[in-house]
Formats: sequence, structure tokens, C-alpha cells
Amino acid sequence: MIKEKATASRKTKQVALTTQFAVVGGGLSGVCAAITAARSGIKVVLLQDRPVLGGNASSEVRLWSLGATSHMGNNNRWSREGGLINEILLDNLKRNKEGNLLIFDTILLEKVYNEENITLILNTAVYQVDKTGDTKIASVTGFCSQNSTTYTVSAPIFCDASGDGIVAFMAGASFRMGAEDKEEFDEGFAPNINDYGNLLGHSLYFYTKNTDKPVAYTPPSFAITNANELPRIKNYTLGDHGCQLWWVEYGGRLDTIHQSEDIKFQLWKVVYGIWDYIKNSGEFPEAANQTLEWVGTIPGKRESRRFEGDFMLSQKDVVAQRDYEDAVTIGGWALDLHPADGVYSKHSSCTQWHSKGVYTIPYRSYYAKDLDNLFLAGRIISATHVAFGSSRVMLTCAHGGQAVGKAAALSLEKKCTPKEIYTKGYVAELQLRLNRDGQGIPRVAIVDKDDKIQSAQLKASSTLQLQGFRPNSEWQHLIFSTAQLLPLQANTLYNFSITVDALEKTVLHVVFKISGSTKHFTPDVIVEEQQISLEKGQQCIHFSNLNKLPDATYTYLCFMKNDKVRLQLSDDRITGVMTVQNKINKAVSNYGRQDPPAGIAIDSFEFWTPERRPKGKNLALSWDKALRVFETRNLKDVSNRPEPTGETHAWVASWEDEQPQVTISWPSPEKIHELRLYFDCDYDHALESVLMQHPESEIPFVVSDYTIFDGNGNLLKKVAGNHQGMNIHIWKSGITTDTLVIKFKQSNATIPVSLFKIWAR
Ligand SMILES: Cc1cc2nc3c(=O)[nH]c(=O)nc-3n(C[C@H](O)[C@H](O)[C@H](O)COP(=O)(O)OP(=O)(O)OC[C@H]3O[C@@H](n4cnc5c(N)ncnc54)[C@H](O)[C@@H]3O)c2cc1C
Repeated sequence: MIKEKATASRKTKQVALTTQFAVVGGGLSGVCAAITAARSGIKVVLLQDRPVLGGNASSEVRLWSLGATSHMGNNNRWSREGGLINEILLDNLKRNKEGNLLIFDTILLEKVYNEENITLILNTAVYQVDKTGDTKIASVTGFCSQNSTTYTVSAPIFCDASGDGIVAFMAGASFRMGAEDKEEFDEGFAPNINDYGNLLGHSLYFYTKNTDKPVAYTPPSFAITNANELPRIKNYTLGDHGCQLWWVEYGGRLDTIHQSEDIKFQLWKVVYGIWDYIKNSGEFPEAANQTLEWVGTIPGKRESRRFEGDFMLSQKDVVAQRDYEDAVTIGGWALDLHPADGVYSKHSSCTQWHSKGVYTIPYRSYYAKDLDNLFLAGRIISATHVAFGSSRVMLTCAHGGQAVGKAAALSLEKKCTPKEIYTKGYVAELQLRLNRDGQGIPRVAIVDKDDKIQSAQLKASSTLQLQGFRPNSEWQHLIFSTAQLLPLQANTLYNFSITVDALEKTVLHVVFKISGSTKHFTPDVIVEEQQISLEKGQQCIHFSNLNKLPDATYTYLCFMKNDKVRLQLSDDRITGVMTVQNKINKAVSNYGRQDPPAGIAIDSFEFWTPERRPKGKNLALSWDKALRVFETRNLKDVSNRPEPTGETHAWVASWEDEQPQVTISWPSPEKIHELRLYFDCDYDHALESVLMQHPESEIPFVVSDYTIFDGNGNLLKKVAGNHQGMNIHIWKSGITTDTLVIKFKQSNATIPVSLFKIWAR
């Protein structure tokens, strides 16, 4: 028994921790920063004020994580964020293709729990920052209400991934909250503050479920009674829940930090009022058996403070895909602003303008310019309100978190501040290390002197010489314009054939399109157009790209919409080629093309987007000259995904090769400690974390089984059941050999074995 006498006051239990890197906030950005740093060999403390990890992606808030692929509704081909967040999403796919939020929670928790270098402190809200001098943070202090303990964490480097920027704010870093005017960064999309508002609001979701008998509903007395007057209520469809209710938004005219609880209460009033309207207005008789299953208690907060780094990302960086020497991450979500009045606004619930391709974010946006030791991650990074409209989505935040985690380890190694990583010229090393982990920063020239594959000779058992796709018995009705995306060579005349079925006599319009820039995949240039007369019935048609391409590039062979025509399909699926359609995806403001108002400096263009498997099959096209784009030498490339330049960056084995293998040989024996293999984990597929269903639990292009032998035929590794994009094999004491042979199991007759990259040291 504990019995204590009365005393004037008591202190809670105090725990002092010292670490090398303290991360505040366990959303996807904080989780990725913490794990990446821990895997780079430094000790990390991760403080999170809630019981689970994931922030807005957790089961507490329930958003699906999105990024550059934008629900596969834009022109950003093969753009899913690489590295750790890709590993997390592939694990989630393997165990949770149905998108159950609770399972995603456990995947994040398991990832952090498995890292020996991380001390995870949940349910602990950081409320105090102590500094050494004006510009250096010494410690952060948080209180855990569950175990009544106060934790003080001291570290040489900190990361603020808390969403509102509690650490950066208390440490005195310069910040902004609200929209810049158009002039400051020459941003045509900057809102008219009086009319549209200054900030994006919070949202609160609810889930409903069907029962087997009628369920009555009495709303709480505080629920609104005029939900029928909400401008967007007419779009509500029974069964909409979770992320589909993103438009239940409020608070953009208030102080989204200090009035957050008021905003949440107003959202509760709206949510319960909407449900009252659905259950009791008589407008939804089919809702009789429906009941509320879950209502959010923590609002999703879109926007509050943004802190200033040495660079501020702005509209033009996003739209023009401007690259900077210190690019470390990518973004590709649309510039996506919401009216501050949210659910009450007369404006559309959001305005989204896409850029033609992915943009990069410089390293200088990821640290507080006024402080010596504070990284920024998540939605608080250094960006204008307009650019934040894009950079705020969670996979972009997570990708940035990875860059921060890597940079934290590098700054300890080099004994320099976050700023000095840039000023002292360590960014190239940072980019190199990130890309080795699969980050996939585009358009940076990286030379990897440690990579022993660069000096090796690579030989494959076969290489695919692609000349077409084998027909199946299915047909694609041309109710949408459909394009086969192919990497064609420069100055080459290709003669194409395909079997089509004309329902009546008609003319088929075929257009060859390419992208006018090597930075994006948007097909904005017409190279050639042809009209092909069709008789009724099945027939094989022939056409060619008469205007030869001056440069190798991805080319769209577009069969324009004609509902009298069907095209023969194929079951063959190959790394680096796919079909796309000129289709609408309202979820991401894709209406087939975008035509922004004049003067806001955003491009007009068409969208050509893929369909999710099992749809999205290749067309049964054939052509006369093999595409030599899957050569073994591609395995030495820095990039591990296809690029708009027309490079697939992949080696692909031939169809007939039943035992595909790659032999790596060096002129003399080498000591190898580590081997990395980068598989095709379909960077085009948006692996939304929750709610969205995925067609398979493993990406079908990933090789699941393979073995590695040395030059004497000794088995070094046997892998079965791989589902990851990057595999790392470590030999702590090293193996000495002049040859490595990797033998892959061909397990799918329609998908030849492929590999993007091999790396060794
Ligand atoms: C309604 C809504 C819809 C959205 N739609 C999408 C979408 O569909 N897809 C998408 O990708 N993005 C979407 N976004 C944007 C995205 O969710 C956020 O921009 C993103 O989550 C920001 O990441 P973050 O890591 O900075 O913050 P968060 O995900 O909020 O994570 C911050 C974490 O820090 C913790 N924290 C806060 N204060 C403290 C403290 N004092 N001490 C310790 N821990 C603290 C919080 O608990 C939280 O877990 C949406 C946002 C909202 C609100």
C-alpha cells in the first residue's frame, strides 16, 4: 500500500532522455524521419501525442495517404514515392489490400517497434522547448497523461513533424499562417483572401453501416437542423464515408490552432446534422436500416503554420517543375486549395490544378532558417500557401521525412548543422544515399563511386526484344480514346498492326503524341495523325509513325474515341509499357483536360490516365522493329523507374526464358559486403493506404523467388515470397568472388521477369 502525508505540492514523475535525434510528431512524415535516421545508425526518440502512429493516416483521423500518383488520375506516370514509404505501402498491400485502417496502424507501429534505435513515446504531448542560446534547441519536454510522466528529451538535432509546428513555434522560428498575396512570389493562383479565405479548414469524418432491421436515430440537441441547405449535400450518396466526406470542412476563417476545439465542435454539429437529415428527412428511404458506426473525435487539420527555410517552394516551382541542385523529394499532387468557409461556401469545395509532371522539393525547405538544429517535416515545410496546397499530402510529407531522417544522420556524421549540409556541399552525398534507398529523386546527376556493379560486366540469359503483345480474346470498346504508351527510338520508322473490330463502316483516327519536355509524361505535342478507313467486321489495320521522332521518347499511340470500334487486347504486361485513356476522374478534378482561367499561370492540357488492374490491359499491337529498351546495361542506371526521356531503366527477360538469370562478373575477385536488387513494384499504382481496395496483395511485376550464387556455384542466398521493391543482402564479413549469378523464378507466363537495378559494395 502507498500512503503519503499531505504536502504543499508534488511533481509528476520526471524522465530525462538523451538521444541523437528527437522527432516530435508521429504522422507519416515523423515516422519516416525517425525510421530512416534509425536505419542510418543513430539513436532516435519519437514523441507522439496520441495512442497510435500515422497522424491523419491513422485510424483516429482516417485519411488515405496520397502523393504524386494522385489516385492515378493525372499524367504522372510511374511516380509513386520511393524508399521507406514505398516499403510501408507494399507491406500494407501484402497484409491489407482491403485498406483496413486498424491494420495500417499496426503496420506503422510494427515498423517503428522493430527499430532497435528508436525509443517510441506515445500519448506524450510536447509542450515545452528549452534552448541553449538564441538559435539552438537543447531539449523538448512532453507529458504523458497515461502514465503521468513528464519526459525531457535532449538531443543535438530535432525534427518538428507535429503538424502545427509546436517545436519550431516555441523555439522562435519565423513562420507564416495564411495566404501570401499574388505579388510576393508571382503566384497567379494565390486566392483573393476576402472572398476565398486565408486558410484551409478542418474536416471530420463518419462511417455508417447497414444492419438487418430498421434503426431509429435521434440527433444530439446540438446538431444543425438545416443540413439540407449545405451547398454540397446534393452530392451525398448513401454509403459515402471516411475520405469521401472530405468536403465536411470548416474553420478556415478561424485560428486553426487556438480555435481548433471550437472548429471540431462545429464539425460535430454538422456531421450529426447531416446524419439526421439522411435518417429523418424522408429523402433517403433506403437509409432505414443504416446506422452510424464511427464519428471522428480528432479533426483532420489541413493547415496552420508554415515555417521558413532558406528556400520557399512556390507555385512556379510546381507548375514549371523547376529543379534545384538540392532536390531531395518529389511532389505531384495538384495545387489544391479549399474555400475557407468550407461546407458553407458558395465556391466549389476545392479547386485543383495539376502540373504536367512531378516537381522536386529542395533540401532548403526542410530546416528552420533561424535555428541551428531544427528540421521541418510534413505540412509545415517552407512553402507558400499555394505550393503547400500540393506539398501537404501525406506521401509527399513522408518522402520529405525520409530526406530529413537521412540528413539528420549525415549532419551528425559530418558534425554540421542542417543548414551546413547545404552550405558545406554535402547535399550530393545526401541525394546519393537517398537514391540508394530507392528515394527516386528525378533529374539529379548522381555518380556512385562505391557501386561495384559499375565496374562489372553484366550478362543476362536473355533480353526482351519487344515487337508486340500477344492477343487474347478480349476487346477494348473505344468509348474512350485509348493510347498505348511505348518507348520508341529516335529516327526510326515503325510499322504497326492491330486487329480491330468495326461494328459498322467508319474511320478510325490514330494520333501519335509525345511530351514536349523530358520532365513530364503529358502528351502535349502531336507528331502525326492518320485516318484509317474501316469496313464492317474484324480486320487487321496497318499504320506507321511517318514523322520519325528526333529523340527517343515515350510515345502515345492514341486511338481516338469511336464507339463503332473495338481494339483487340492482350494479357501481356511488361515493365515500362502500359495503356492510358483520355478519361475523367472527378476525385482529383480530372475532367479529361484542364483549362484554368487565363492569367493564373497554370497550363492547359489533356489527361491520359491508366486503369487499375485487372483492367488497363495492353493493346494487341505488333510492330516490325524490336524495341531495344530492356538491355542488361540498364541495370547500372541510377534510376529505378521509367522516365519521360524514353528510358525504361529496366532489364526485361524474354518471354521464352524459363530460367532467367543475370551474371555479374569482375576481371578479378572483389570483396562484396552488400548487394541491393531493385524490382519493378509498379510505381504507377497509387497504393492508397486505407479504404481503397487493391486488386492484388503483391505487385505482379515483383519477382518473388530467386537465388544468388557465387562463381563456384555456392548458394549465397535463397529468397522466396518477396513482395518488396528493394531487397538488401548483407554479408557482414564480406564474400570474395569474381562472379555473382542471380537466378530468377519465372512465375507468370504473361509477365516476363524484370529488374531495374543491381547495386553492390
Ligand atoms: C480532411 C483532410 C483531408 C485530407 N486529404 C488528404 C488525402 O486524401 N490524402 C493525403 O495524403 N493527404 C490529405 N490531407 C493532408 C494531410 O493529411 C496532411 O497535410 C498531412 O497529414 C500532414 O502531415 P504531418 O505529418 O505534417 O501531420 P499529421 O499527419 O497531422 O501528423 C502530425 C502528428 O504530430 C502529432 N502531434 C501534434 N502535436 C504534437 C505534440 N505537441 N507533441 C507530440 N506529437 C504531436 C499529431 O498527433 C500527429 O500524429 C488531408 C488533410 C485533411 C485535414
